[in-house]
Amino acid sequence: YGVPGSGAVLHTLNIRLHAEELAYIINHAGDSAIVVDKILWPLFAPVRDRLGDIRILVIDDDGDLPPGTLSYEQVVASATPRDVLPDIDERAAAVMCYTSGTTGRSKGVLYSHRSMVLHALASGLPDCLNLRESDVALAVVPMFHVNAWGLPFACAMLGSSQVMPGPCLDAASIVELLAGERVTFAAGVPTIWHGVLRYLDEHPGMTDTCYRLMVGGSAAPPAMIKAYQDRHDIEIIHGWGMTEMSPVGTLAIPPSAVEKGSDEYWRYRSAQGRLLVGVDGRLMGPDGSEQPWDGESVGELEVRGPWITASYYLNGTENDTDKDEMASKFSDDGWLRTGDVGALTPDGFLILTDRSKDVIKSGGEWISSVDLENALMGHPAVKEASVVGVPDDKWGERPLASVVLADGQSVTPDELSDNLEGKVAHWQVPERWAFIDEVPKTSVGKFDKKVLRKRYADGELDVKQLN
Ligand code: AMP
Repeated sequence: YGVPGSGAVLHTLNIRLHAEELAYIINHAGDSAIVVDKILWPLFAPVRDRLGDIRILVIDDDGDLPPGTLSYEQVVASATPRDVLPDIDERAAAVMCYTSGTTGRSKGVLYSHRSMVLHALASGLPDCLNLRESDVALAVVPMFHVNAWGLPFACAMLGSSQVMPGPCLDAASIVELLAGERVTFAAGVPTIWHGVLRYLDEHPGMTDTCYRLMVGGSAAPPAMIKAYQDRHDIEIIHGWGMTEMSPVGTLAIPPSAVEKGSDEYWRYRSAQGRLLVGVDGRLMGPDGSEQPWDGESVGELEVRGPWITASYYLNGTENDTDKDEMASKFSDDGWLRTGDVGALTPDGFLILTDRSKDVIKSGGEWISSVDLENALMGHPAVKEASVVGVPDDKWGERPLASVVLADGQSVTPDELSDNLEGKVAHWQVPERWAFIDEVPKTSVGKFDKKVLRKRYADGELDVKQLN
């Protein structure tokens, strides 16, 4: 709060990135000082070696500072306190994050004071996250991942207490925090909640205060949403967004007229959610024509609104790197091309079927990798499943299913394939199957399909082909 409050720009760094990428980001952003907790020094030291002259402030507890660095506490203590914050233009930059992009270089997004306030107001509304003063909110999502989805700002605005998990993100530690801090609301990517679900199943009754989770960043499997509700009385609020959108664009709260527990109700709960007030959306078909909001017509979603960026940082200046690639993300009439493919219902709910680059193009038809993954992860023997398109002589591309088995379970590709019948169209069922120990993840915990495609291309996967 102090950094943007003083008129400076806060740039949260993703310490899980490779040192070289992080150094590129720091230089590209023009960071002038870096605050680092000493516990992270081993990770940060190789980054520092790649940086020029830049002030480094270390938060330490023993006075033993790495050479050439300053003590954060001493710098803060020596500053002159201000009684009044500077009067800052609401459109001035407050915070910035870089995308975790699985393609190309990371891109910078600047958030203004105005966009952060409007995003906090909208995401905290009753039919959104419904955050209140009485809430105790746990952000399992890190601050470098789109400002922990804006929660530090929404919670401060609304008076909710906040809990930070620190470095321990295993299921047992998270459940301990939920219980020990009497958390009422928590947010994170599906991978985290997948592990927590299994832990809660084995240790029922550990949380009696937590009644809702916000899950996004990648598609929350419907089976997981239902399991939390049925087995633990915890409501998952599915949401969709992007670094470019501050990030929240949709949240899935079914209309009150829909009967709880009905098929329709679960369809609403599993969708990515209704466009937030303030977020405009339109669907663009493959031929560039706008598609109707009928819940069926599929296209790439484009968005615009007060907390949606109009360009990437330094795009169009001599310092930018991927000028054309960055500019292509925006339409001539000012919409952000999300790269996400799906449908919109007449009442404004988004149903995503894929990233445009992940959709599988088989014999001129599209197969949704997300639908296949959700159907596979609904099988009790499957812990995780990721589906990518791989080259196929006859069809151009066909799905390859990479499956991680749940502990102590076994199942054959034939059984999994039979189980998909009736859940997806017959011609969409994969012929290629691989069992793997873990789905590779990006630095923010999403399935890293680029790595899976490469493993397949390099012949590293043990693939069984069904007829
Ligand atoms: P990031 O900027 O790292 O948060 O990534 C944004 C991208 O994550 C989006 O463009 C989507 O492709 C994906 N994403 C986020 N939330 C969801 C969701 N609920 N379902 C499916 N994909 C999602």
